[in-house]
Amino acid sequence: MKRDLEVIWHPCTQMKDHETLPLIPVKSGKGIYLYDFDGKSYIDAVSSWWVNLFGHANEKINSRVKAQVDTLEHVLLAGFTHEPAVDLAHKLVALTPKSLKKVFYVDNGSSAVEAALKMSYHYHLNQGKSKSVFLSLTNSYHGETIGALSVGDVALYKETYAPLLIANMQVPVPINQSIASANEALEVLEKVLEEKSDEIAAFIVEPLIQGAGGMHMYHPIYLEGARVLTKKYDVHLIADEIMTGFGRTGKMFACEHASISPDFMTLSKGLTGGYLPLSVVMTTDDVYQAFYCDYNEHKAFLHSHSYTGNPLACAAALATLEIFEESDILGENRKKSVYIKKKLEKFIALSNVKEVRQQGMVTAIELQGYDAKERIGLKIYEYALSEGVLLRPLGSVIYFMPPYIISYKEIDTMIEVAFEGIKSIASM
Ligand SMILES: *Cc1c(COP(=O)(O)O)cnc(C)c1O
Repeated sequence: MKRDLEVIWHPCTQMKDHETLPLIPVKSGKGIYLYDFDGKSYIDAVSSWWVNLFGHANEKINSRVKAQVDTLEHVLLAGFTHEPAVDLAHKLVALTPKSLKKVFYVDNGSSAVEAALKMSYHYHLNQGKSKSVFLSLTNSYHGETIGALSVGDVALYKETYAPLLIANMQVPVPINQSIASANEALEVLEKVLEEKSDEIAAFIVEPLIQGAGGMHMYHPIYLEGARVLTKKYDVHLIADEIMTGFGRTGKMFACEHASISPDFMTLSKGLTGGYLPLSVVMTTDDVYQAFYCDYNEHKAFLHSHSYTGNPLACAAALATLEIFEESDILGENRKKSVYIKKKLEKFIALSNVKEVRQQGMVTAIELQGYDAKERIGLKIYEYALSEGVLLRPLGSVIYFMPPYIISYKEIDTMIEVAFEGIKSIASM
């Protein structure tokens, strides 16, 4: 811990907090557990920031990555190709909504969002239109590089950097999971598109669940409506499924709940089962063709990252997709989410619980009656850690997003610890 604090500046952290809040050195991981150097175990109830699907040190993924490291660890993807990248791209095209036919490899979530924004802008430019504004939802999160931050709407992350951001506008996200609120929000979307679609390149959304925005959830009918409207007004729809992809919402991709096919889909996080950084932008043949011409016409998408399509990461992703193919993961998850929902009924009786909401394998408990300065989430985080559960909250929202391999007994433990933590604070 001491050697760490001498040299490491941690992400998303006020480093001074660590004068009183100890860092947790993790020695190893197995399944849903993380182990520290004293042999204490922690249930990874947030899947290590939403990336892990099938547990730590998963045997199947381990063996694929080990085999790949002895074969080809990395090669540039410009002018060269390799089998894991090709196999993975074919699988992704087959799995995602039908209009998505091309895979552009990137290496992390924010960079995938950047690439999608640039592609959308450039597509319109190649069609002779200059559209340089991006539309997004209030309370959204799409990453923290400058472009991705611009289309996000979490003030805590965005405000400071306002002078650096690219042109962006927000329309209201539906206030809850009701159809009525989705329809209200669609009315505003239509008005904005009617007035401004000449300037707007794309509308980017987190389908169904706004993750970093406190696990805020809305009805799929909003996505259906947004797809119709964006088509009508010649604005791209970017589905940022970086968090919601690969089964989190109950279907393989959240867009499937609304049976929509976006113009772009960004994927990362669960893509490699939580092993290695990798991301993709999936897009349509129409978008691809807008860049396809003789070199001297200068329409190519000249965007790259050094580790684009890294073979080790692709191998981890292939192993992850094989696990989905070999057993009925989504079916098992459906049963687990029904079980979790039932177990959470008793939370709503607590005076400091405002709402419990769920979408697939994401369940959130929103607390009420606290001032932001109280950092109530932090108190529950510390309590849960002492009880062997890693529950990193978002403000006053406590949520469960465990690896899919969690057992029913482990679900009981995870929920009981959260319940005791929230209850003890309610009576304070
Ligand atoms: C995490 C996340 C990102 C950013 O991905 P990073 O790999 O952390 O840069 C973008 N969009 C959504 C919806 C996310 O949840």
